[in-house]
Formats: sequence, structure tokens, C-alpha cells
Amino acid sequence: MTHGNDRASYERAMAGTSRLFAVWPGEWSSHLFVIDDLNEYAKAHGIKHDEERTGLKDHVHDVRWEKDSYGNDNPRSPYISIRVSLECGCSIHDLSAFAAQMKDQQGWVVATSGGWGSSSGPEGTATGQA
Ligand SMILES: [Zn+2]
Repeated sequence: MTHGNDRASYERAMAGTSRLFAVWPGEWSSHLFVIDDLNEYAKAHGIKHDEERTGLKDHVHDVRWEKDSYGNDNPRSPYISIRVSLECGCSIHDLSAFAAQMKDQQGWVVATSGGWGSSSGPEGTATGQA
């Protein structure tokens, strides 16, 4: 039995090679819960993609982007501001989920700390590193 809360333990649990337990420490006794709803567990820990919450389908997005002319134009900054539109119809409700997908799909490092907003319509603005 290992202690941890990571993707590897989730995958072992999915493969049936291990089970996930949660320990609720108490003063007199500790309660041990078997986590049987792996789906909910994975969503809660951001392991499994949650389309409803993030507004993003689990597919390769059809991303159209252009440099944001109102953004920071400091040539020494490793970041550029870009205006992103998702032609595939997804919308960005959760920037960190979007950032993770863009890293996988495009190799972008998307800044998730501030510096983003969405305008009306299907477009959003993200700060990214191309
Ligand atoms: Zn999409």
C-alpha cells in the first residue's frame, strides 16, 4: 500500500492492480474509506477531463490565435499576449485545464497566474509562450 495522490495511483486503481483508500484521521480512531467512484475522484483531482466544468472537450482543439496588439510588447519578456479563439466551439472556463491541454497539444506554456480575461463572444484572451 502506498501513500499518495497522483496519477500513477489513479492509473493503478483503474487497472485494478490497486485500490484507493482515503483515511479520515480522527482523535480516537481513523476511518478508512474505500474510494469506489474513481470517476468522481479523478474529476476532483483534475486527473480526468471534466468537460462540464472546464467548457473544454477532450479533443485536439482547433485553435486560432493572433498576437494581441494591446498586450505587453516587451521584446525581452518570454511571454507574449495572444488572442485565442477556439474554432471547435469549446470555451475556456478553467484556465489551468486549458493550459494543460495546450501544453500537450501545442507545446505552449500558458501563464495561469493572472493576465487573462475573456471578451464577449466566443473569444478569450490567454497569455502564452509560443
Ligand atoms: Zn475544442
